[in-house]
Amino acid sequence: MTLLNDAPPAGLAGTPVRATQRFRAYTNKHLDELVARAGLGPEARLATRAVATVLPFRTNAYVVDELIDWSAAPDDPIYRLVFPQADMLPDSDVARIADLLRQEAPPKEIQRAAHEVRMKLNPHPAGQMDLNVPDEMQGIQHKYRETVLFFPKQGQTCHAYCTYCFRWAQFVGEPDLKFASDDIDGLVEYLVAHPDVTSVLITGGDPMIMGETVLKRYIEPLLELPQLESIRIGSKALAYWPQRFVTDPDADATLRLFERVTKAGKNLAFMAHFSHPREMESQLVSQAVRRIQSTGATIRTQAPLIRSINDNPSDWSSMWRQQHAMGMIPYYMFVERDTGPQDYFAVPLGRAYEIFRDAYTSVSGLCRTVRGPSMSATPGKVCVDGVTEINGERLFMLRLIQARDASLVGRPFFAHYDPEAKWLSDLKPALADKFPFEE
Ligand code: SF4
Repeated sequence: MTLLNDAPPAGLAGTPVRATQRFRAYTNKHLDELVARAGLGPEARLATRAVATVLPFRTNAYVVDELIDWSAAPDDPIYRLVFPQADMLPDSDVARIADLLRQEAPPKEIQRAAHEVRMKLNPHPAGQMDLNVPDEMQGIQHKYRETVLFFPKQGQTCHAYCTYCFRWAQFVGEPDLKFASDDIDGLVEYLVAHPDVTSVLITGGDPMIMGETVLKRYIEPLLELPQLESIRIGSKALAYWPQRFVTDPDADATLRLFERVTKAGKNLAFMAHFSHPREMESQLVSQAVRRIQSTGATIRTQAPLIRSINDNPSDWSSMWRQQHAMGMIPYYMFVERDTGPQDYFAVPLGRAYEIFRDAYTSVSGLCRTVRGPSMSATPGKVCVDGVTEINGERLFMLRLIQARDASLVGRPFFAHYDPEAKWLSDLKPALADKFPFEE
């Protein structure tokens, strides 16, 4: 590795980044001042605060100072990626909470109202709280035969929160909505008892919020398990805080930990979440990517397709091209999940397919490692493979690219075309009485 000999990091447009730049989070107490910078008046700012009472808000100085184009805010896609918007929730709910904030109601009353709104937002889609969870093992999901997800207790926050996050319920301070574990011994025991599991995904939140001394407590015991072929880390730190791999005090130690994983013969798959091409413009990101790759890890990229943030083919084709040029592997375009502000951010499946197709056809074959648009639904990952016409009727062609019932993986099926459909539950089977996962 050449970690310690790397040139000093540079920021956007080659601007030197201070080597000592330390992470600084912005939370609800900074929200009013920050959105004023986007030109919002008092009522709009109050509505924004009302939404941030229900859904989580957190960003940081790097996102605010380096990524957001404030001259375009509040329409700027990165602004929309991290700042709540008034119409993310139904008007009546926003008005109710805004009234309580205006009256400076007791915090308990405000929190009770926020809780009631949250309960209407399907906080745990795809049965994640119970369907795939082994008995009494909150914080572990055995999602597919070969894949287990682990939610480390100290990793259940992020360097910034995405407005569209499907894990939003982890961050709102309601213990009953949260799942996490620090029982690494329990995880190891579970894996030994389930030798079919070959891959563990450490996820959050963002596991890279953990310092190296904590992260290694979770990773090192896994290196002893011969059955494990890969360890995945799901993270948006390359977009929200690339300093984590370059200038943070434990950046080098973290990379040495990554190197121990690959030297143990495991594939370390760093699952990087990039939502918009601008997140990759900084030279600091290029440097962080190179440093991660220098450990032998691979970086695969994924993100959901989000209305008003990245709902056009050119953003996706330029992301995939750039990722490919940087040696990353485009992996998934997801459909916005059926939780939280889905009504606000979702792109209809028919349009999602068109965006995917137009982006996919405009990149070279080497970028076409990407799959999508894919719904992470209760039966598994359902990909919209196309729209076709059979017997004079328009149909969606669908396929399970991953499934809880392994015998269904790869199974194609059809649904009646519906231009408004945004999720699997909106679809009706075609050319069969039932979908294959309903049989
Ligand atoms: S980085 Fe991932 S877990 Fe964190 S807020 Fe964004 S989507 Fe959610």
